[in-house]
Amino acid sequence: MRSLQSEIEQHGARIFELVDQHPESLFSKAGFYQRMMALSMRDEQFKVQMFRFVDVLPSLRKSGDIVQHLEEYFAGMHNGFAPAIQSGVRVARFVPWISAFILRRNVSGMARQFIAGKNCADVMKTLRKRHAEKIGFTVDLLGEAVLSEKEADEYAARCLDLLECLVRETQGWTDPLGKDSELFPVLNLSVKISALYSQMDPADPTDAIAHLAPKLRPILRRARELGAFINFDMESYAHKNITLKLFKTTFGEGEFKDWPDAGIVIQAYLRDAEADLRNLINWGRARGTRFTVRLVKGAYWDYETIKSRQNGWNCPVYFQKPESDVNFEALSRVLLENESIVTAAFGSHNVRSIAHAQARADELGIDRSRFEFQLLYGMAGPIKRALVEMGYRVREYCPVGQLLPGMSYLVRRLLENTSNEGFLRAKFSENVSAAELLRDPKELVRQNRANLPEATIPTIAEDRHPKNGASIESPPGDIYENSPLVNFVYQETQEKMRTALREARNRFGEKYPLVIGGEKVWTDKLTPSVNPSAPKEIVGYVAEAGIPEAERAVKAARAAFDKWSRTPFEERARLLEGAAAIMDRRRYELSALEVFEVGKPWAEADGDIREAIDFCRFYAERMRQIGRPRLTQHVPGEESYQHYWPRGVALVIAPWNFPIAILCGMVSAALVTGNTVIMKPSEQSIVCGAMLMQIFEEAGVPPGVLNFLSGRGSVIGAHLVDHKDVDLIAFTGSREVGLRIWESAGITRPGQRELKHVICEMGGKNPVIIDSDADLDEAIVDSIYSAFGYQGQKCSALSRLILLEENYDRVMERLLSAAGSLRVGNPEEPGMMVGPVIDEAAYKRIQEYIEIGKSEATLAYQAKEVPPEGYFIPPTIFTGVKPNMRIAREEIFGPVLSVIKVRDLDEAFEVANGTDYALTAGFFSRSPADIDRAKAEIEAGNVYINRSCTGAVVGRHPFGGFKMSGGGTKAGGADYLLQFLLPRVVTENVTRHGLAPEETPEYRDEFLWPQR
Ligand SMILES: Cc1cc2nc3c(=O)[nH]c(=O)nc-3n(C[C@H](O)[C@H](O)[C@H](O)COP(=O)(O)OP(=O)(O)OC[C@H]3O[C@@H](n4cnc5c(N)ncnc54)[C@H](O)[C@@H]3O)c2cc1C
Repeated sequence: MRSLQSEIEQHGARIFELVDQHPESLFSKAGFYQRMMALSMRDEQFKVQMFRFVDVLPSLRKSGDIVQHLEEYFAGMHNGFAPAIQSGVRVARFVPWISAFILRRNVSGMARQFIAGKNCADVMKTLRKRHAEKIGFTVDLLGEAVLSEKEADEYAARCLDLLECLVRETQGWTDPLGKDSELFPVLNLSVKISALYSQMDPADPTDAIAHLAPKLRPILRRARELGAFINFDMESYAHKNITLKLFKTTFGEGEFKDWPDAGIVIQAYLRDAEADLRNLINWGRARGTRFTVRLVKGAYWDYETIKSRQNGWNCPVYFQKPESDVNFEALSRVLLENESIVTAAFGSHNVRSIAHAQARADELGIDRSRFEFQLLYGMAGPIKRALVEMGYRVREYCPVGQLLPGMSYLVRRLLENTSNEGFLRAKFSENVSAAELLRDPKELVRQNRANLPEATIPTIAEDRHPKNGASIESPPGDIYENSPLVNFVYQETQEKMRTALREARNRFGEKYPLVIGGEKVWTDKLTPSVNPSAPKEIVGYVAEAGIPEAERAVKAARAAFDKWSRTPFEERARLLEGAAAIMDRRRYELSALEVFEVGKPWAEADGDIREAIDFCRFYAERMRQIGRPRLTQHVPGEESYQHYWPRGVALVIAPWNFPIAILCGMVSAALVTGNTVIMKPSEQSIVCGAMLMQIFEEAGVPPGVLNFLSGRGSVIGAHLVDHKDVDLIAFTGSREVGLRIWESAGITRPGQRELKHVICEMGGKNPVIIDSDADLDEAIVDSIYSAFGYQGQKCSALSRLILLEENYDRVMERLLSAAGSLRVGNPEEPGMMVGPVIDEAAYKRIQEYIEIGKSEATLAYQAKEVPPEGYFIPPTIFTGVKPNMRIAREEIFGPVLSVIKVRDLDEAFEVANGTDYALTAGFFSRSPADIDRAKAEIEAGNVYINRSCTGAVVGRHPFGGFKMSGGGTKAGGADYLLQFLLPRVVTENVTRHGLAPEETPEYRDEFLWPQR
């Protein structure tokens, strides 16, 4: 008996033989497309620019814009192809409309390479041709990202229309093999689940299924009546578990339980694919009806790796291409071994993967009529033909739709075709030998492992800067690794959060003391902290400090300063790392507390704890970098070292909107630099403050070094700001209070030692501009999130959306329906985007602003349904807003968005910069020149291009603004700690009678005061 490998080689050789009889280049359409792809494969920079240009082109309406983008993308390229490209650009400038026409036609041609038709009638031409070639089809409706329920309903309706049309047009078509045809209905529709529900949140599968199932049922019902097959496509990892669960739920329902014409995709590049497949098979056996699995490698490899790197998540995909190939083969085997319940559809263009499935099927005695190969429209034509000739069943995946929605699909295909790792490129462009292409991928995995030293084999926390780490000197943010966000895609993490919420509820009403000089202090007054979603619920009570406690705290901090300031920075850094480790351990508990105390949705609460952990770790590392005295300049005979001393007693006054992160950020910076601290949390988040105190106590903060004082800002806050023994004030909060502190700190009181230093972070009135060529799928999702995420209560939140006349209507139509689809409710439930505002005062103030908005501008949207109890403000959008109106100038701090229409980009920048604030700003555009302008011109401490304007990450996005937004400091940035320190230089003449040491070390040990 021959080995499986030789069987595979034989099958593969036969496919290649047939392929070579009809030679065809990788790209069946010659001309422009072929030239572009060939260039892309030779030149990475060209490839990036070309794909970006292709991506933006369909959204450009005017010929002049097309030529301008062409120039912006390509004119500055400095490489071997530059002369040719630049002369093309020059010609284009003279005759823009002809050039635009030609470019459009060529790019449309490229898209037509992969998109089988604009609509049903159009796609039928292709389907008929394929039918004659004995190739079946599955159609897939291309769509824009679905941003609203209106768009989701439209997608569902289009699916139904397509089914009706296709059934009419394919009447009388028979199975090409004439055998086992009952397993393979002629009419086959592939459905994208994410297009059916706009608010799908991985953390909330129950909600997703509750919305998806009713939309799917009519499609399934009709498909069943028409004898059609429905396949669930698989998209990004975030949607995988919901898609699997939806499949099992709907096809487990009585109505569909005995219906075999249903399929789902398994992606072999996922590490957990085998577990999912086996789970599906077990489900199928229990259900007792056949179903189909389309096995693919997966289309989102780049996206998944980037996303998981950004969030610090375990990467769900394999890192080595041959690992995906090995897994594909392992899963092929599982599928074929379970042929009695599952029909296999192998979705691959890779001859090795295909030949393996064929050889395995032979080995298991499965007739070739009982499974099929599926390939994409526009790719690998000769392989399809070869498979048909060999008597296999072949189905083509045919996307249908317009050019604009088709762009993301087109770019995925272009990436796949030009990928260094891809089979098609190797075979059809680089003519790699058949023997090489048919090698066992296991051998390649082994070989790769043997060639790489163990340490360099990418692991989950692998090489963090593979592409962008161009400079030799590492940037400041690289000195540490951000803590990963919790990924709520997993059932396990969802469960942990639910348990933490239950436990947090059980602790409602607990009482917490002040902590002064290491002692727990109770006063005769307790401040209650309420749940803004249900104000009758008291989350906890904290003892309320008055002036006597404030005085006691200053004394304790002053007394502890002497020793703490002389404690080596390494010890102080370790204290922060200890606190970070405790927060990591208590992560879910702390997040749950935030859900209740300040109304944060799950992911926002988790983001806050992550930020607190990051602050501790980042500042610990930064302190290690700046802690040692450093030589100022090499000069013979003299040594000068600069180093830092702490300032003294720091008063930290924090807001409630990032109740642990901001408090912890300011406290940890003050502590690690050797200051002693009085920490005053916001009155609305005192339990979070008490919790942070517990954490630092557990981490071992010495008595008096950190003192916890909860109380009224107007009483103890004001008293301490003016106190002669307070040397430093770190404040984050409203402009009103911030300016008062700034002024008051400027007065020198009798007995004061130091000039008081104020670190002051205040609010914003943050603009986002959407340029005329912006990708609206992204711009609208991100704008909605920036404006309404955490109810618009982030100082970074978007509050002024600036739209150009040119695309105003297009944006508004989608924006309003997207806002209308948001989930508003108690954030205890996962997946809520908009929860309650913080308290009754905020509720009233925001309502007042809404009334002002109604009198100044036009109320374009306001959500109708909000929970009756709790401080819920419906997401609200005003249009017709002018820059001088109050709702366009004053910070509202709630879910209220003002839309300002402007003539052009000049006016957009003018409006964006025309407020008192300069905190964050966003700009969405695909014009490199406009992006450069935004980078240079927008007045904001944090300018975000083509992404949301909230969610700064420690070390990555040092955060803070200027003008009336703050004093120009950057929390989470390289120089933040310097704000808490006094620089000092010690110079020593080291010459003795003309003799000086030859070498001067760059660093000295820390200058600590002599031990007493
Ligand atoms: C009919 C059909 C339907 C499809 N439906 C879906 C679907 O629903 N969902 C979906 O996600 N995809 C789907 N795909 C797309 C499919 O995932 C890609 O076309 C396919 O992965 C290409 O694989 P290949 O075997 O043809 O080529 P190969 O060149 O052998 O494999 C390329 C694939 O290897 C993987 N890969 C690349 N680099 C690495 C690396 N460094 N480490 C690990 N793995 C790597 C990627 O998955 C890449 O796509 C479908 C494909 C077909 C043919």
